[in-house]
Amino acid sequence: MMKTRIQSFIAKHGNKDLMSDKNTKPWALYHQSRPDKIENIQRYYPIVYLPWGALEYHSYHNPVGLDSIKAYNLCIDLAKACGGLVLPPIYQAANLIKSYPGVDFKKHSIEFSESLILQTCVEYFHQLIDAGFKVIVCLSGHAGEPHLNILRQVSQDFALLYPSHRFWTLAEFDILPIHMLEANHSALGETSLQLFYDPESVDLSLLPQDRPTSLIEDGISGLDPRHANAGLGSEIAHLFITNASKIINILLDEAMSKNPS
Ligand SMILES: [Zn+2]
Repeated sequence: MMKTRIQSFIAKHGNKDLMSDKNTKPWALYHQSRPDKIENIQRYYPIVYLPWGALEYHSYHNPVGLDSIKAYNLCIDLAKACGGLVLPPIYQAANLIKSYPGVDFKKHSIEFSESLILQTCVEYFHQLIDAGFKVIVCLSGHAGEPHLNILRQVSQDFALLYPSHRFWTLAEFDILPIHMLEANHSALGETSLQLFYDPESVDLSLLPQDRPTSLIEDGISGLDPRHANAGLGSEIAHLFITNASKIINILLDEAMSKNPS
């Protein structure tokens, strides 16, 4: 099953795997880099990736940091494909399952206010512009509302304030066909991505064996995660990188033409 999916991906997209280390563009983890390395990368790839995560209950079978782990790893793969620097994930989110109406999952979530999310995002964007970045990509692993819309709005507001820069806030499902991935909470899509990026952190045997999963009973929203597998996670991640990198390359070209060095 897994091999078939990966083979069909290669058949569709060719052998040039954007996530393979052979095709890697200049990139680094920002917090692990000295100034000379940062400036060398920024000269031609002034892109920064801000993985926005959460600490949130993700049912029995997934770690509470899933949104952060997912966004961080997807940002690293994006940086390999497009160049640039990856920030550490932000473990700060509003609108978690802890406060979702009609369900009772109060434990294992660290929840913040919407006003703090807005302030943190605005301050990060200002600081990243000050630090010399021309393209800011904010990938939100958490899709709660209005949390995600707050981050989207900051990108839109900054685009008006800084017309020579480029800003893009997205969730991974924004640029994937709905049959492959839709917004979900700890369901088939998120669990498959977690199995792809960090398989030892997932335990599918903790899911109910004798009935389908549900939001009320299990804190799971979306397709049944009992069918999750790393092959599907790989397929989702590869198509995400393929689609996102096309957009980021355009944003980089636009920013470089407006900021000639
Ligand atoms: Zn999640």
